[in-house]
Order: sequence, then C-alpha cells, then structure tokens
Amino acid sequence: MSPSALTVVHDLQNAGYAAEVVGGCVRDLLLGYVPKDFDVVTDAEPDEVRTIFRRARVIGRRFRLVHVRVGRDVVEVSTYRAAPKRGSAGFEAHAEQGRILRDNVFGTRDDDARRRDFSINALYYDPVEDVVIDYVDGFSDLQRHLLRVIGDPIRRFEEDPVRMLRAVRFAVRLDLRMERRIESVLPDLAGLLGHVPPARLFDEVLKIFHCGHGYAAYEQLQRLGLLAELFPESARAHTKVDLDPDHGLVSLALRNTDHRLAGGQPVIPAFLFAVMLWRAVCLETDRNQQRDMAPVQSLHRAIGTVIGRQQQRVTISRRVATTMFDMWNLQHWLLERRPRLVPKTLAHKRFRAAYDFLMLRISAGEATAEIGTWWTRIQEVDGPTRRKMITELTVPQKRGRRRHRRGKTA
Ligand code: ATP
Ligand code: MG
Repeated sequence: MSPSALTVVHDLQNAGYAAEVVGGCVRDLLLGYVPKDFDVVTDAEPDEVRTIFRRARVIGRRFRLVHVRVGRDVVEVSTYRAAPKRGSAGFEAHAEQGRILRDNVFGTRDDDARRRDFSINALYYDPVEDVVIDYVDGFSDLQRHLLRVIGDPIRRFEEDPVRMLRAVRFAVRLDLRMERRIESVLPDLAGLLGHVPPARLFDEVLKIFHCGHGYAAYEQLQRLGLLAELFPESARAHTKVDLDPDHGLVSLALRNTDHRLAGGQPVIPAFLFAVMLWRAVCLETDRNQQRDMAPVQSLHRAIGTVIGRQQQRVTISRRVATTMFDMWNLQHWLLERRPRLVPKTLAHKRFRAAYDFLMLRISAGEATAEIGTWWTRIQEVDGPTRRKMITELTVPQKRGRRRHRRGKTA
C-alpha cells in the first residue's frame, strides 16, 4: 500500500466518511504486480473532501475530483458515482449508439462498482480494516485469471468502445483469459471505434502498444478485428511479409519495443507510428513516382497523404509527425551514405531514431547488413577513423551522374 493513499483513506474515515482504494491498484496488488498509482474513493463530495485536507484542490469540470497532496505525492480522490441512465443527458443524442458522454452523477458504492468496466477493476480495498469489498465477483475472476465484463458486453462496449481496447490491454498485460462473451462480440463491434474521438484513441493506442506486451496486443487486435479500425492505412498496405511473426518489420519492431521497456529504455510514440505506417508511405511514394514526381517530392507528398489519412482515426500531434517525417526522410541519407551528408546525418537530432529504424528494416530484409554495420561502427570510432571511413566510401551514383554529364557536354 502507498503510505500517502493510506493517510488519505485514514483521514477521510476519521472524518466519518467511507473511503477505500479501488480499481487498478487493488487488482494489481492482488495479482502480485506493483500498482502504478492508487485511486481513493469516498462517499464525501468533492467540496467536503477539500475541507478535510489542507492541501487539496478540486479539479475537472465534468468529472469533479480532488487532488490531495501528501508530502510529494498527489492522491486522486473521487466520489462514488453511478452510471448515467439511458436516455438521460449523460447519453449521446444518437441513442442507437448509446455512448456515454458524461459520467458525474454521484451514487452509492454499489452503483460505483457496477459502472466500472471489468469485474477485476471493481474491487474496493479498505486498508484500515484490511478487507476487500466485492459487488461483482471480481475476486473469484481474479483468482481464475478471467477478464469479465460487468453486465452485457455489447451494451457496455457500445457505451464506451474504448473498453474493447482496454480488454485487450488487460488481457495481455496481466495474462488474463477473456471470457468468451467478449471474444465473440469484438469482431462485430470493432467498427464502433470509428466514433471515438481521435485524441482519445491516440492515448489508448500508446497505452496498449507501450504496455510492455505490445507484440501480444498487436496479435490480439489483429485477431479480433480491432487493428484495422485503429490503423486503416496499415491494414491496406501490409502484406504477408510485413506481418510475418518472425521476420516482418512490424513484429520485429513491436518485440523490440517490448524489450526496451523491459530494460527500462525509453520509447517514443513517433517510432510506433513510423513503423506502423511505413509500408503505406512506401506504396504512396511509388504511386507518386509513377506520376513522374521527383523521388524526394514523392516521399514528402506521400508522408503528408498517409499522416493526413491516419489522423482521421488517431490523432498524431505535430511534434510526433515531425519526428516521423525526420525518421523516414533520413532513411535515404542512411542508405545512400553520400560522403558530404554523413556528418550531417550523424549530427541530426533524429539520427538515433532513424538508425534504430534502419536496423529493424535490415532485420526485416529491407537493406543489407553491411550498411547497418557501417553506421554502427562510425558512431563508435574516433574522429580520424571516422574521416577515413567517409573518404573510403565509394559513391557509384554520383560518379555515374558526373560521367553522364561530361559525356553530354563532350
Ligand atoms: P491502469 O493500470 O492501466 O491504470 P486502471 O484499471 O487503473 O489500469 P484507469 O484508466 O486508471 O485503469 O481507470 C481506473 C479505474 O476506473 C478502472 O480500474 C475502472 O474501474 C474504471 N474505468 C476506467 N476507464 C473506464 C471505462 N472506460 N469504463 C468503465 N470504467 C472505467
Ligand atoms: Mg490507473
């Protein structure tokens, strides 16, 4: 238990309110994982919570909750809420889709449990009394490692389609079995993801692919028909070769990301999107070249087109898009190794990401190993050796062009 969350629960109970920790932290503790954070719930309303703690701030307009500062920690305290009733203001005007828009009606703890997505996410733990409170048989599901939706899966996924992605994430991250009811409805409901705001899907895509089990998640998303809803461009462009579990670029990249995360190394969103959309960019570049566009212009135009289309599903911020652009654009410089451009390439802000991407492409058979070895070595050697490596480069393309020009003028 986190000492800060314990303090907050203690103080709320001393003031006469009910208070527990809930959700992900209880689930993770019971499964033997270290929780990311501890969420406190109570029957005190936000303004009441604020009066109990000296350093507390009510935040959020739609979901009012309280941030309580304990030492350097911030503990999030929310009031028990009930699910909005169908047909009420909390539901979307398009009743047929039944998506929940607002979620801030206060309720009992029982209500609060039932509005949650999966039974294992609806356990309350009172650290003072040391008891688990369970309204939805979440405890026995945890023991069986079973992921079960609270209520009717179709209805709950219609209310919030992101729950479908959460299902996959929890299943792979916590090694849970999805109940059959979930598996059987996902392929039919996958299209509902088209109604989710792209910015929210960006957050979820990152959570799912950067959860440390990105490759397993990818396989499940693919199997359940969700992947094509998140990356329509990739679904159209990817071939059997790309999807090969052992040698495909996407598989290699996602396994590599899992590895990095396991080793505590940083990962960036741009890398994920650059990998997922690379084939689509290549195809679009070819198409542009067939329309007699110059190679560089073809690539740049293709990048714009592919990112533009993908944006309609999943937001890609300008910062992420710029990094992707650099990573893709540098691939030519890396492959060509023009002596004049080598120092510039090495000094580029995105050299490292572009180099990592090149190495994956080499593993996937898209370039020769020799080029990768060369770029690896040039980063390791001292200045004089580096200059020697650059001088020793043979540049058949450039020479060819010169000879051609000379021939013309002669
Ligand atoms: P993580 O470890 O990824 O944070 P978590 O279960 O804590 O997992 P959060 O997104 O932090 O997930 O949400 C906290 C709790 O709020 C969940 O455990 C669940 O009970 C509830 N919850 C979150 N998102 C939803 C949702 N879309 N629908 C219903 N309940 C949800
Ligand atoms: Mg959480």
